[in-house]
Amino acid sequence: MDPIETAILAQIDARKDDLIRLSQDLIRIPTLNPPGRNYREICDFIAARLAGAGYACDFVRATGAPGDSDAHPRWNLVARREGARPGDCVHFNGHHDVVEIGHGWTRDPFGAELDGDRIYGRGACDMKGGIAAAIVAAEAFAAACPDHAGAIEISATADEESGGYGGVAYLAERGYFDPARVQHVIIPEPLHKDRICLGHRGVWWAEIETKGRIAHGSMPFLGDSAIRHMGAVLEEMERVLYPLLAGKRTEMPVIPEGARQSTLNINSIHGGEPEQEDGYTGLPAPCVADRCRIVIDRRFLIEEDVAEVKREVTRMLEGIRARRPGFAYEVRDLFEVQPSMTEREAPVVRSTAAAIERVLGAPPGYVVSPGTYDQKHIDRIGRLKNCIAYGPGILDLAHQPDEWVGVGDMMDSARVMALVLKELLC
Ligand SMILES: [Zn+2]
Repeated sequence: MDPIETAILAQIDARKDDLIRLSQDLIRIPTLNPPGRNYREICDFIAARLAGAGYACDFVRATGAPGDSDAHPRWNLVARREGARPGDCVHFNGHHDVVEIGHGWTRDPFGAELDGDRIYGRGACDMKGGIAAAIVAAEAFAAACPDHAGAIEISATADEESGGYGGVAYLAERGYFDPARVQHVIIPEPLHKDRICLGHRGVWWAEIETKGRIAHGSMPFLGDSAIRHMGAVLEEMERVLYPLLAGKRTEMPVIPEGARQSTLNINSIHGGEPEQEDGYTGLPAPCVADRCRIVIDRRFLIEEDVAEVKREVTRMLEGIRARRPGFAYEVRDLFEVQPSMTEREAPVVRSTAAAIERVLGAPPGYVVSPGTYDQKHIDRIGRLKNCIAYGPGILDLAHQPDEWVGVGDMMDSARVMALVLKELLC
């Protein structure tokens, strides 16, 4: 084994307790999104550590981004450490926000309890364990190879869980991911230490509203129920749309297998009278629902065109309108993302594959994520194609109760990330 590699791996081994402590410290800062709590606190915490390791720290507030307010400012940190000579810049990007706790926990969601090999907490695998592993990897590499070329950047960014507009998108729009400035990006999302995630499927979110007419509930024939109209929409989805989507298969290596086709989730449904606050003890009033809304979440494949994805839904709704008296609807676009897939021959993919093989003794699996992550902004806004997700943790545990990350997995992926730095910057 070459001496620098030996030195890097020894540096990682010596930092195990530090890696555990760092991930615990990050989990203990409850950066809940929504609404976007403690973003500045976590940026300050990471910056204090990185500044001590020679990084120049930029704090960027995404002023005016969705959700940004004085109560919940969208803070981001971009830290950069220059090497001893010119060369490429390798950037590790982690989102610092976490989703709501939800129900069903048996551990303290922000306690970061270490039990055997596991650290428990909201954000443990998605993705504070990944941020900690990247920081330790960069520090270990710099200690073993102080005269390295190029630069290392570590960013901790806001709002990935809500689209990334107050985070990576905002930074990309301001040139932070310009290919002239950054050449390789690794996003340590929990894709598993032996897999390289090349990209993600596309997304279209939309709200569909059916219209009705309010009337007294004892004489519903005097009104027109938007909920019954929505029932017709749901029935048609089952009859026509779901079978159509199930028939569309992709060549993208999406995991899990069930996501290797087009999918559609109905996120929510609201019709008629608004729901009252918890604790309200009154009865409902008798009314015919004058509107009903659903939010749909359609995930599409690299082989599909987003315009056609939208046309499928309007064709279905037009079909209902032709047959169903009084049927009126509206479709509102909420959000869309194009699919993204980095080529297997891209330099960051090849270096990561080689490092995985060195550390784990077997070649990596190549996967594509069913859901999107911040790669979309780095690709579309930043125009940087040399980007992957690679990091510790089990994807299925993300957003679940009793989320955890394995210490052994964090150590292995830190080894891999440090060897990628060696390959690209040594
Ligand atoms: Zn994540």
